[in-house]
Amino acid sequence: MKVPILELKPAYDELRSELDAAYHRVMESGWLLLGKELEAFEAEYAASVGVKHCVGVANGLEAMQLVLMALGVGPGDEVIVPSHGYIATWLAVTHVGAKPVPCEPEVTTFNLDSDRLAALITPRTKVILPIHLYGQTAEMDAINAVAAQHGLFVLEDAAQSHGARCRGRAAGSLGHAAGVSFYPSKNLGAMADAGAVTTNDDALADKVRHLRNYGSKVRYHNEYLGMNSRMSELQAAFLRAKLPRLEEWNARRVTLAARYQIQLAGLADLRLPQVPTWASPVWHLFVVRSSRRDALQKHLAALGVGTVIHYPIPPHLSHAYAGYGWKKGDFPLAETLADEVLSLPIGPHHTPGQIDAVCAAIRSFCQDSSHLLSK
Ligand SMILES: *Cc1c(COP(=O)(O)O)cnc(C)c1O
Repeated sequence: MKVPILELKPAYDELRSELDAAYHRVMESGWLLLGKELEAFEAEYAASVGVKHCVGVANGLEAMQLVLMALGVGPGDEVIVPSHGYIATWLAVTHVGAKPVPCEPEVTTFNLDSDRLAALITPRTKVILPIHLYGQTAEMDAINAVAAQHGLFVLEDAAQSHGARCRGRAAGSLGHAAGVSFYPSKNLGAMADAGAVTTNDDALADKVRHLRNYGSKVRYHNEYLGMNSRMSELQAAFLRAKLPRLEEWNARRVTLAARYQIQLAGLADLRLPQVPTWASPVWHLFVVRSSRRDALQKHLAALGVGTVIHYPIPPHLSHAYAGYGWKKGDFPLAETLADEVLSLPIGPHHTPGQIDAVCAAIRSFCQDSSHLLSK
């Protein structure tokens, strides 16, 4: 049985009439940017997260960058970011000229370890930028407590966590503001790049609204040095069609994750993701760890099971950051995770039978190799 890591077509098959109607509505309106669809999506998404404001922008990277711009974060400032995660989070910081200060993860949950934050704070620290990685929120109560103690702003990277909850509250409403991505493969994905900022802060939302559109809300009256970072009407209309389905699609992911947890429990050299009691993850990815990850990936590929490594090179060792002075060994937990993590297929359109096939393929690897080890 072939089990692809990700397929987008079944989402279209399930929502064909809604998505086709969205397309026709926009084409018939003749209005393509900053119109009724975006306004409606912003209101609907803000309500789903439980915040006052949602500002639609071009993508998740720029959502975070626009918040940092709006705060005036720049050269000389420091922003604490996870050492283990996607490089886009770091790029938002370096694009405004500030310095990313990496914080090592709690390896059992993959998220930023809040116990390590205090030691990283300096007089230059302005923002803590945790990621809710793989669909599970970071320990936001602890992070917010440290931030409050030091007067810091908390910006969530909520790109992988649409609908995830921390003690009952939704990702995107847990800090002062959040950057969200609607990249096609995310739990809530558009048909091209799209993103948003969510916040309860009126002034911040208003400034981001200016900054996404050349710094102006009234045409040719430019208040700030802004960007061009808008979400199109078409993408907003597609997202409106998909948003009502998010909860159900997340619930399917939760069911499949439980299936993995049961069938993969207790295997030698295979570590499963841990879920703290306060967390309600939405399983953007189901990530396991193995010290023989590359062999496992090969074995699965030979059996038709697609997997991906999120992410093989930690940001501090990326060529892009070569000029920043980091070296191998600086963030050993992030480096170990980069060597050991493997994302298994999980999505709203994977079947229980497909998950069973992945589990059987993994069990055959673990049994084969325990035999080898005992020789
Ligand atoms: C996808 C992603 C981003 C970037 O979002 P884009 O819309 O692709 O710019 C940022 N952070 C994380 C954790 C992501 O997964």
